[in-house]
Amino acid sequence: MQRLECSVFGCGEANRDTSLHLLPKDHTTREKWLQFIWNDHVPENIPTKTRVCSKHFEDSCFLKLAQNGRVWPRGSS
Ligand SMILES: [Zn+2]
Repeated sequence: MQRLECSVFGCGEANRDTSLHLLPKDHTTREKWLQFIWNDHVPENIPTKTRVCSKHFEDSCFLKLAQNGRVWPRGSS
């Protein structure tokens, strides 16, 4: 089985208790995630397995995620 871990630089979280989230399809939200992960050095080819763990989100984000799928990591709004 493939090992999953967070793509955010310096994190590498792979705890089973932490949920990992694939990039959102919504363009605006996706851009915010990409900027958060790579800090304005977004690679030309985004790895398909890019994931962000729940540590980077406020709990309230998950409420929004359930409502409209548009959440972004803390500090990047
Ligand atoms: Zn992480």
